[in-house]
Amino acid sequence: MRSVDIIVPCYNEEEVLETFYQVTEGIVSSMAGYQFTYIFVDDGSRDSTLKKLLDLAAAHENVRYLSFSRNFGKEAAMFAGLSHSTGELVIIMDADLQHPPALIPKMMEGIEEGYDCAAAKRTTRVGERRIRSAFSNLFYHISNRMSDVKMPQDAVDFRIMTRQMVNSILELSEVERFSKGIFAWVGYETKWYPYENVERTLGTTKWSFKGLFKYAIDGITSFSISPLRLVSGVGFLISLVAFIYIIATLIQTLIFGIDVPGYVTTLCAVLFLGGIIELSIGILGEYIAHIYMEAKDRPIYIVKTSNLSNGQHSRNSDNTRKGSL
Ligand code: UDP
Ligand code: MG
Repeated sequence: MRSVDIIVPCYNEEEVLETFYQVTEGIVSSMAGYQFTYIFVDDGSRDSTLKKLLDLAAAHENVRYLSFSRNFGKEAAMFAGLSHSTGELVIIMDADLQHPPALIPKMMEGIEEGYDCAAAKRTTRVGERRIRSAFSNLFYHISNRMSDVKMPQDAVDFRIMTRQMVNSILELSEVERFSKGIFAWVGYETKWYPYENVERTLGTTKWSFKGLFKYAIDGITSFSISPLRLVSGVGFLISLVAFIYIIATLIQTLIFGIDVPGYVTTLCAVLFLGGIIELSIGILGEYIAHIYMEAKDRPIYIVKTSNLSNGQHSRNSDNTRKGSL
């Protein structure tokens, strides 16, 4: 019997939890040789998600839950689930049934074949707003060009992983987590399972455009220092052009004397350089912000209530933390 933990981050998912459990349980309970335990992580929901989880836990003995003291974000919820999991295998999936549970038996075959990870990726983005798909394409394009960590486009956070891979992920103790990059960074053999995008039928998406934009910037700056190199490169190029321009102007002045004052040229140069400098400071700032957040070393999440034995458990009391205070 192999033990499998199913980690489900939930933020305001009162409408879907019961259905999610029924549908998923309907599929996994018929899989022989596995013992499934659910770890629902209530990410500080404002609706009755926690109440629903308490009901589920009371009715079914394979349901565990953790409830955060406030909304810490999906990344924190996934991390909390992973750090509380004890199963030999771990599944991460969304609560909204957009990650089809029907795929689990097929993905499990990949693990049985010897892969360390079986992960789902969307073949279509039907039902998603065009603009979101376009920005998503742009993000993967930029990110994969800039970073050594290649993130497969359209990969979603729906995967089965071995205990070994989960432990490796938990060793990355950064506060600002970007799981798509972390999954790729730790390596291991992953088998991909394409699936058709499923529209959310219950509840609403928790992502805003602003949230996704921040996520994309974090994704790039967490795994690549190429933007910093780019800034140096642009600086070098501008200096070179300026140098050539100075020489040319000097020669011109010596031969032809000074003609009209270069008012427009000066203005353009000042504005252009001003823009480049602002941009460069902004990019530097992004990295400094990362250092600042990591240096504060705050816990990634705070658990308020839980029915897990190792309940009150923050990153600072985890053994994932390296070094000493
Ligand atoms: N989620 C979360 N915390 C958040 C936002 C989302 O735990 O701050 C969960 C949410 O409950 C769902 C999953 O993350 O189970 C994916 O969210 P959603 O379906 O809103 O995102 P989308 O599918 O639109 O990318
Ligand atoms: Mg969704």
